[in-house]
Amino acid sequence: MLGKLYIVATPIGNLEDITLRAIRVLKGVDLIAAEDTRHTLKLLNHLEISKPLISYHRHNEDVKTDILIHKLQEGQNIALVSDAGTPGICDPGEEVIKACIECGISVIPIPGACAMVNALIVSGIDTKEFIFFGFLPLHKKLRKEKLIEIKNANKTVILYEAPHKLNTTLKDLKEILGNRQVVLAREITKIHEEYIRGTIDEILAKSETLKGEMILVIEKNESMIENNLFGDLSLEEHYLVYENQGLEKKEIIKKIAKDRNVSKNEIYQYFIAK
Ligand code: SAM
Repeated sequence: MLGKLYIVATPIGNLEDITLRAIRVLKGVDLIAAEDTRHTLKLLNHLEISKPLISYHRHNEDVKTDILIHKLQEGQNIALVSDAGTPGICDPGEEVIKACIECGISVIPIPGACAMVNALIVSGIDTKEFIFFGFLPLHKKLRKEKLIEIKNANKTVILYEAPHKLNTTLKDLKEILGNRQVVLAREITKIHEEYIRGTIDEILAKSETLKGEMILVIEKNESMIENNLFGDLSLEEHYLVYENQGLEKKEIIKKIAKDRNVSKNEIYQYFIAK
């Protein structure tokens, strides 16, 4: 009989964030495939579980997939874990999962922590529609393409980021998206857990001092719908739309600035100079 591959989510910081089922599965399998065996050993010691471990990480996925498939075909049950959270989400897993499906081997998820879901749910930003982009590419051209995709998505966007790249990423985001509202979720479930809400500029001002694991949740461009409507209008025509709605000058300037994703002052100066 074929074995089963269990994809087991592990904590993203707080060791209590592991499910009873995950513990039972880790105790019950024949082998645990881990992104970093030393890291997983600490978790297993904490849970008082003793199991054979095999490494399965980005740089040996091909070779290890074959070995794991062979063992599963022999009837062994295997749990796959990553260093933190849900395997396959910006972590190894995809290769062996695809291979299992091709070979008719059951792949069973054991749900648990996933950093991006937790950042999103406490962000206060729209959770109805969102896009998760993982880490932005480092390659200049690919990065720009991804940023444009983000700009055009018109949905909440979630990005993973490393602290030493935060500053550059915020600057790149600002350049392409404008000064959008962002939540930076840091060290979720850990001692220094923190959620910083503000515009990209406001987060940028603090970015040098921010450490630890972090996620950016970016609000969609609220002005985009209007942008599509007003994009072809001159500023005067845009002004008239709101004037005809009976709005006061101050309110009109505020709305135009929001529609066009520019500062109120910029619009104000334009009309003063006229
Ligand atoms: N598989 C993991 C998951 O389910 O979320 C993600 C692994 S990915 C290699 C690591 C990235 O996830 C970090 O760079 C950070 O962006 C995010 N992350 C993981 N744990 C986190 C935490 N406790 N707080 C904030 N972000 C976290």
